[in-house]
Amino acid sequence: MRVPMFDMQEQYEDLRAEMLPAVDEVMKKSRFILGENVTAFEQEMAAYCHVSHSVGVASGSDALYLTLLALNIGPGDEVIVPSFTFFASASAVARTGAVPVFADISPSCYTLDLGSVEAKRTERTKAIIAVHLYGQMAQMGELMALARKHSLYVIEDAAQALGATQNGKPPGAHSHAAILSFFPTKNLGAYGDAGMVVTNNAALAEKINVLRVHGSKPKYYHHELGCNSRLDELQAAILRVKFPHLAHWNERRREIAAYYDELLLQKVPDLLSPPVVAKANEHVFHQYTLFVNKRKELVAFLQQAGIETMIYYPLPLHLQPVFSSLGYEVGSLPETERASQHVLSLPMFPELKKEQQVYVVDQLAAFYAQQTMLKV
Ligand SMILES: *Cc1c(COP(=O)(O)O)cnc(C)c1O
Repeated sequence: MRVPMFDMQEQYEDLRAEMLPAVDEVMKKSRFILGENVTAFEQEMAAYCHVSHSVGVASGSDALYLTLLALNIGPGDEVIVPSFTFFASASAVARTGAVPVFADISPSCYTLDLGSVEAKRTERTKAIIAVHLYGQMAQMGELMALARKHSLYVIEDAAQALGATQNGKPPGAHSHAAILSFFPTKNLGAYGDAGMVVTNNAALAEKINVLRVHGSKPKYYHHELGCNSRLDELQAAILRVKFPHLAHWNERRREIAAYYDELLLQKVPDLLSPPVVAKANEHVFHQYTLFVNKRKELVAFLQQAGIETMIYYPLPLHLQPVFSSLGYEVGSLPETERASQHVLSLPMFPELKKEQQVYVVDQLAAFYAQQTMLKV
């Protein structure tokens, strides 16, 4: 049996009859930049995230960068970010000229550790980026309390967590702004790049609106240095076809996660640490990630058996060559480094079949049984 990490074919077959007319409509109207689908999709996302404003941009990475720019964050400023995340969470900070300051994670949920954030705060700290890794939200209550105490901005990187909630509230409703990504493999994926900022701050949204069109307002008059970063009209049309299915897809992800939990408990009890869902969180399982031992051997064994797995992320950001000038040493963020050496994400997408899950867990069990035998 072959089990891919992610497969979009079946979903496309299901949606094709709706998708092609939506794309055809955009082409017939030929309004390709900031057309009616972008505006409508922005409104749909704002409502979904319980906020008053949203701005569609070219990617999640740009959403983060433009939000920081619009908050006047730049040279001389520091922004606290987790090191255990996708590169864009920190590169957006560096692109503004500010310094990303890396904080550690709590080992249970892989999201920012409050104590570490407090320890990293200085007089130069302007903002905290809370990354909702793997599909569950960071501890927003305590982060917002800390931010209020020191007048810091909090931006949620919700690229992996569209549909997640904490105490019933989605990303964007807790903080100054949240960024979304519609990269094809995200829970709501475009057929190309796309991103968005959602916020309750009207002035912030208006500023990003201007920055995404080269800081031009009125047209061809530039008071600020923006860039070209718009959510593409074709992608918006595609996303609007897909959005009504998001709740069902996220529900499927939760069912798949629960079945993995059940199978693991049945077949490899004590050997693996399945994902922990923090109290008050509704998880959307962008990834189903285990903490494993003998990872390298396990990955090779599963690959032999036709099962794809992924490591998100193998080298923490504070140890990336591009950030070497920041001077972090191995051992400086112990939980982050431990996680990067032990995490393994299993195949996860809404169309994954029960038989495939059984096969994955049977192979995991076979690997660990073999390990035990080798030891004897
Ligand atoms: C995907 C992702 C991004 C960036 O989104 P793009 O749309 O690919 O630019 C940022 N942060 C995290 C945590 C992500 O997973």
